[in-house]
Amino acid sequence: MIRPLFIVGTRPGAIKVAPVVRAATEHPAVDPILLTSGQHPELARDALATFGLTANVELDLGVRPTSLDEMAARLLGSVSEAISSTSPDVVLVLGDTTTAAMGAQAAFYAGVPIWHIEAGLRTATANRPFPEEMHRRLISRLAALHLAPTASARQNLLREGVLDTEIAVTGNTVVDALQYVVAHRPTATDPVVASVIDSPGPVAVVTMHRRENWHEGIRKVARATLRLLDREPELRVVHSAHPNPIVHNDVHELLDGHPRAFVTDPLEYGDFALLLARASFAITDSGGIQEEAPSLGTPVLVARRETERTEGLRAGVAMLVGTDEDRIVADAQRLLNGTSGLASTVAQMNPYGDGRAGQRIAHALVTRLANVIVLRRFDGEEPPLAAAGME
Ligand code: UDP
Repeated sequence: MIRPLFIVGTRPGAIKVAPVVRAATEHPAVDPILLTSGQHPELARDALATFGLTANVELDLGVRPTSLDEMAARLLGSVSEAISSTSPDVVLVLGDTTTAAMGAQAAFYAGVPIWHIEAGLRTATANRPFPEEMHRRLISRLAALHLAPTASARQNLLREGVLDTEIAVTGNTVVDALQYVVAHRPTATDPVVASVIDSPGPVAVVTMHRRENWHEGIRKVARATLRLLDREPELRVVHSAHPNPIVHNDVHELLDGHPRAFVTDPLEYGDFALLLARASFAITDSGGIQEEAPSLGTPVLVARRETERTEGLRAGVAMLVGTDEDRIVADAQRLLNGTSGLASTVAQMNPYGDGRAGQRIAHALVTRLANVIVLRRFDGEEPPLAAAGME
């Protein structure tokens, strides 16, 4: 049996790893171990539950670390211990979180091969977004196999000197995750989401959490929301507030009390997907939402100066607007009155994936590790690449 150890710690990590773990579990030659690092314990647990999964190993970081270095140091120590007690054949980390960076570092010290899911995303600036961009660059130096979600992610890796034989283009697993919840969650359970979805009129969804937007950027987006609500009397805005108090407090302070602004706690993934599907547009600094929106036909105003998810910009489903209030209000109004280039160019096919990334990664586990592990049985077929950005 091949024993891969999957290491995630945040909500998007849990959502994106779930389809891979499910595909690996179904494979007779693979015995996956799923570890959550304790970076966002409740969010990760809830996200996994949506997919009927629980972690095999749940690390506890104790009192929430207050700085990045403290978080990184504790993760490195606790993940190293878990690698030594589980003795995996390969460690798989996902994306660009502190958990992913320290998981890769711990596996390197333990001499275990590292596979990187969602490899090859890049901005032009090494410290933006901070610290994620440097995390993914560091993981690329450590990884033995780079599971790139798209053709342009593969190109980024080739430009940095990674060998083509060490790259597999798989599609982004978030598309698999979204397809799973859309198929398994026909109605909303959260009362705010249920009422917003069921009543007529335009709806905007907002999420903000990135470190570079803490304080000023998040306040500017909330003020833009209020101006937009003033100008658009039919509009309702749902802001799903990140639980980090730095984010949460600013959003509540500015938006609480407005009758058409609904500030919610983090929504269960199935409910959030239904809300995003119903929304006229989203304003967000999230990476995952940029990748999900094309599947749902929802245009996205990206509240960042740069994005590593350039496929959405090229496909005409996303637009970089930063956190400038005037710009956000103007572009949102254009979306609402149908004069934005974005609204009319919703992609037919998701440039980030086709929903079979989990199967491709499970397939890679058995084919690429076959030389070191005696297989009991394997007769699976690798699915062909189908999404526009992946060939
Ligand atoms: N999400 C969710 N509930 C919410 C808000 C977001 O399940 O209330 C999901 C969203 O669909 C996406 C992921 O969380 O899959 C994005 O997480 P986040 O924005 O925190 O991280 P990023 O994608 O920027 O790394």
